[in-house]
Amino acid sequence: MRLDIEVLRDELLAAAREARHHAYAPYSGYTVGAAVYTENGRIFTGANVENASYGLTICAERVAVFRAVSEGVRRIEAMAVVTRDGGTPCGACRQVLAEFASEDALVWCMSEESAVVEQYRLADLLPHVFRLLSQSSGDDELTLGGV
Ligand SMILES: [Zn+2]
Repeated sequence: MRLDIEVLRDELLAAAREARHHAYAPYSGYTVGAAVYTENGRIFTGANVENASYGLTICAERVAVFRAVSEGVRRIEAMAVVTRDGGTPCGACRQVLAEFASEDALVWCMSEESAVVEQYRLADLLPHVFRLLSQSSGDDELTLGGV
C-alpha cells in the first residue's frame, strides 16, 4: 500500500464517518457509512439506503464498492465502516468486497459511540470465499469455495 497504514486508516474512517451522515435509514435507524481505498489511490464512500420494500435496501459497503467499480476501479485495497456499535459488514458485502480485494485487504470497523476501531483481514471476515473464474480470464475451470 502506498500510504502509511495508520494514516490510511484514519483517512478512511473519517470519510466513512462523513458518509454515514447521508444514510437513509428511516426503518431500522441503523445508519452506516463506508469508505474504500482503491488501487489508484482514490477513496469512494457509501451510506446505507433503505426502502419501504425491505429487500431493496442496500448496505453502505456495497454502495462504496459499486461506486468505485462503476468508475473503472477493479482493485480495492482497504475498507472502513462506521456504525453506532462497530458492526462488521454483512455476508453479502463481504462477498462483494472479495470480488475486488485480496484476502489480506484490511477492513476497519469503528463504533461511533465508543470510538473503538477493530481491524480485520478480509480472509478473517470471509474464510472460504466463493470464486467463479470468468471465461475471459483464460481459465476454464471453476473454483468453488477457495482460491
Ligand atoms: Zn451489507
